[in-house]
Amino acid sequence: MGGGTLVGADPLQFSGLKTFDPPPDSLYGRTLDAVTFRGKYVLLGLGGPRIAVHLSQGGRVDVEDPPRSSKPKFGVVRFRFADRPSVLVKEFGTERKAGWWVLAEGDEGPMSVLGPQPGSPGFDELIRTSDDNRRIHTVLRDQRTVSGLGRGYTDDILHRARVSPFASLRSLDAAKRDELLEATRAVLADGLEAERARTGGLPTKIGDHWVVHNRYGEPCPECGDDLRRVSYESHEVTYCPRCQTGGKILADRRMSRLVR
Ligand SMILES: [Zn+2]
Repeated sequence: MGGGTLVGADPLQFSGLKTFDPPPDSLYGRTLDAVTFRGKYVLLGLGGPRIAVHLSQGGRVDVEDPPRSSKPKFGVVRFRFADRPSVLVKEFGTERKAGWWVLAEGDEGPMSVLGPQPGSPGFDELIRTSDDNRRIHTVLRDQRTVSGLGRGYTDDILHRARVSPFASLRSLDAAKRDELLEATRAVLADGLEAERARTGGLPTKIGDHWVVHNRYGEPCPECGDDLRRVSYESHEVTYCPRCQTGGKILADRRMSRLVR
């Protein structure tokens, strides 16, 4: 898409556009000079101003070649470029959380609150030096502390590093912190490789390459013991007791309520 001239940014859904100034049409005629990311935001660089897109849970991107003009049922926004394919952002499901932002040059918008992302010196520094006392699973998913990671990668990273999801950063020694950095690098590299091997775009449900995430009850790929979970309202944390907690079963409020 690089080098294309933006000729349209068409809202297809009432709540998708999160900014009102500058208006999208103020960017028409500008050249797409970079597609990058910050945390979970995809950034379209337009020679100073940028468009940020957050796909949330159900957001997907279609490259439309040739460009289309239909109004798809689940569309969020369509970016049109002169003599290039169009880019359609759409969203499955009913949560309506995917969004986009038009940002003036230098405006970080929603990214101004983000913590460092894996792969950056800031992330390495944070993991090596932080005395954060919260659960590590929470820390890695808190976008203001660490940006870019979600539940799936967090489960897999902690399993690979053999760290309990309930451990705190403060409790980890230097060697364990290095293992956590290495596990983060390796899990994200594997994930990227798996995603790049896909053909035909993202399926409705992604995450088919997770090692432990969402695999509660299956054998741990490392030791063969059953994977366990801790359930919350909206998600669950999957872990291996033998590999990560010294055999300890972590308290699962939902399970103990059922048992009672
Ligand atoms: Zn295991």
